Amino acid sequence: MQNIADRISLLSTESAFDVLAKAKKLETQGKDIVHLEIGQPDFKTPQNIIDAGARAMNEGFTGYTPANGLLETREVIADYCIRHKGVKTNADEIVVVPGGKPIMFYTMLSLVNPGDEVIYPNPGFPIYESNIKFVGGVPVPMPLLDENDFRIDIEKFKESITDKTKLVILNTPSNPTGGTLTKEDILAITDIIKSRDIYVLSDEIYDRIMFDGEPFSIASIPEMKDKTIILDGFSKTYAMTGWRLGYGVMNKELAKHFTMLMVNSNSCAASFTQKAAIEALTGPQDTVVYMVEQFKKRRDYVVEALNGIPGISCILPSGAFYVFPNIKNTNINGKVLQDRLLEEAGVATLAGTSFGSYGEGYLRLSCANSMENLEKAIERIDKFIRSNI
Ligand code: PLP
Repeated sequence: MQNIADRISLLSTESAFDVLAKAKKLETQGKDIVHLEIGQPDFKTPQNIIDAGARAMNEGFTGYTPANGLLETREVIADYCIRHKGVKTNADEIVVVPGGKPIMFYTMLSLVNPGDEVIYPNPGFPIYESNIKFVGGVPVPMPLLDENDFRIDIEKFKESITDKTKLVILNTPSNPTGGTLTKEDILAITDIIKSRDIYVLSDEIYDRIMFDGEPFSIASIPEMKDKTIILDGFSKTYAMTGWRLGYGVMNKELAKHFTMLMVNSNSCAASFTQKAAIEALTGPQDTVVYMVEQFKKRRDYVVEALNGIPGISCILPSGAFYVFPNIKNTNINGKVLQDRLLEEAGVATLAGTSFGSYGEGYLRLSCANSMENLEKAIERIDKFIRSNI
């Protein structure tokens, strides 16, 4: 008898980790698996960043830092947000945390009371819905459909706003669809919510991985600046998933609450990691440019190849490193296809429903793998589909 608190049953998971575990088990049984399930760059952290982290450790910089992060790191982040996102901010509005995820959690804990409605992208990063439910909020899905380039349907968005809407979550470029919101989309969303007491969580973790156009942060719009919490971090842009470093940008008052949550949960993000972050943002950016070029080449190959497979159609994502093919015409359910591709074809993918109910009829493939492995995966998927539909 464990007497676990009721709230724990409200949490749900990221199935990428479950599929990874299943794939690893098959590998120990001698099966060859191509991994397209996990969402992390297949590149090494750039050497100058590793050196900066190691130098900090060797110099004894291994103790606690202030709970909201080193002033030096927050200043560099603020400067980066001004330069890169066009957001007028300063170090008092930055809270440094271990990875991007804590910003989601702290946003819900700080803003959402039981019964408050939160509009979130569906399909979308699964932790949004899990966190909303955990704090007793009401998740209101905002469908992202391929016939609309996985962008928000502004009319439907307008209809989903009620007096109980407390928070809207935006994620551009998006996991899992790779779709991006245009500047016009963001201006239209702003027009609808700017006169209301509604906050925005703007998840911009993929905003350096864009193939067409430039990112546009809702927080760069003066009326939205103090109502927006930006989530960003180092995991994707600098291939630093295991370093656990992210940050939020928010108004000074909210930053105090986020800092209090840090004091109560983590104390601070790792000190030497925060030093490495300074090098990441101020050092050479050529490795980021190289990585994005590789993701673009892979995206172009994978999308074209998928569109040549019967029953599959795939639109060209404009950012991130995922593709989200529509598999409805294969007449195979997404979860069944996910399991059969893994067990029978040796390709680990994720069913679209891992990202919410509107993901039914889709698969998510991560292009964070070598061209050679992507070619192998496509060959296997093609063979499997042709012999099963
Ligand atoms: N936001 C989105 C949309 C993501 O896809 C991810 C990770 O996959 C995160 C946030 C979390 O990033 P981190 O690993 O830095 O916590």
